[in-house]
Amino acid sequence: MRHFFVGVLPREVDMIEFGKWLGHSLLSYIFVGPEPKTALIFLGGDLGAGKTTICRGILQAFGYDGVVKSPTYTLVESYDQGLLKVHHFDLYRLGSAEELEFFGIRDYFHQSGCCLVEWPERGHGFLPMADLQISIIATHEGREIKICSETDMGDLLLAHLASDRENQLDF
Ligand code: ADP
Ligand code: MG
Repeated sequence: MRHFFVGVLPREVDMIEFGKWLGHSLLSYIFVGPEPKTALIFLGGDLGAGKTTICRGILQAFGYDGVVKSPTYTLVESYDQGLLKVHHFDLYRLGSAEELEFFGIRDYFHQSGCCLVEWPERGHGFLPMADLQISIIATHEGREIKICSETDMGDLLLAHLASDRENQLDF
């Protein structure tokens, strides 16, 4: 398992830029191989940490420029970006993790594109391993962001992100 400390992002706009950068890397990963894949991304952090804000940036990288609603009440918001689908989950209000089974959650993970999951701990036992796990902690300086990979493909993606970040402009 690899860890990567991105840094502290002081403003909302920095979070969106970070999401876009991550989204562009995801896009290059999804298209490696004979068929486009799905990337599974978990976003951890308290209420108001900035999880949905990062998702907004990721969606922009996938070509979506409309409003990104928080799926707190709907559980999922889906975006059809042509060949790719982005499913954005918020499990905060999930009664119990078993409900995901009735919801047919597995079907979402076999489509090309990416699945973004806020509050993944609420679905523990009913979600596959994430390729990347992003954790956000609010500090006095801004939001502290760490990324951790849980799969082989996540390792590749993280290595790519880390090398890219070395030559990167600041967010
Ligand atoms: P979450 O999905 O984790 O509950 P949101 O993404 O909805 O959090 O963000 C909550 C609020 O925090 C929003 O008003 C957003 O504009 C603001 N915000 C997000 N990231 C930052 C940041 N780095 N600095 C300051 N405010 C931020
Ligand atoms: Mg949210």
